[in-house]
Amino acid sequence: DTPRPIYRRVLLKLSGEALMGDGSYGIDPRLMEEFAEEIVQVHRLGVEMALVIGGGNIFRGVSAASQGMDRATADYVGMLATVMNALALQQALEKRGVATRVQSAIDMKEVAEPFIRRRAIRHLEKGRIVIFAAGTGLPFFTTDTAAALRAVEIGASVLLKATKVDGVYDADPVKVPDARKYDRVTFDEVLHKDLKVMDATAISMARDNKLPVIVFNLRKSGNILKVVAGEPVGTLVQG
Ligand code: UDP
Repeated sequence: DTPRPIYRRVLLKLSGEALMGDGSYGIDPRLMEEFAEEIVQVHRLGVEMALVIGGGNIFRGVSAASQGMDRATADYVGMLATVMNALALQQALEKRGVATRVQSAIDMKEVAEPFIRRRAIRHLEKGRIVIFAAGTGLPFFTTDTAAALRAVEIGASVLLKATKVDGVYDADPVKVPDARKYDRVTFDEVLHKDLKVMDATAISMARDNKLPVIVFNLRKSGNILKVVAGEPVGTLVQG
């Protein structure tokens, strides 16, 4: 039987890194198809979907800066990387018959609409999937912060953060074998214990605007559907 969505409008954040799969760079075309398929399935349930995609599979500002590149410039390159991912994802979604729009925080009129909040909302109401590209358009920020910001702007009921781990842990599960996963955790706990969820800017944006965040594993297929159906997958972060 078809899962029943508990949300009307969601913002799904996909890390760029997720797109490279087991590779070390770029987009794994097979994975892209899988993600697109799952996103379309959720969309078919009648959930309004906005997406923010990262760029870490192509370029990451902080890493480039640590190797001597000017940080702001590196960050702009990183933002452009997210536009590439957005266009690739758009194509994979449209192949499946869904209408989509890419809105970029950096003007690039030949390939994407500019970000216009009211227009984005209109697209969602008309059943189009909106992909927000170029992060916030500002250096020194992250796509997680862009995701929190856009989610609040469009009035999403929840921010779904799809990552490569099962949720939020009290220690790094890769390094600490008996690290414990939280089912629920508060924003304050995340900030005080410096838990690895999103950067502090993104967390405080979510906290101040009472935007719940669900962190879950994107690599387990069917997870986006489960989360949207309210099944206890991943970690729920709220106030
Ligand atoms: N970036 C930025 N401002 C933003 C969003 C992103 O400067 O609002 C840059 C930053 O350099 C970042 C890169 O774009 O490293 C790619 O985004 P991110 O690392 O957040 O992607 P993800 O980790 O999700 O793949």
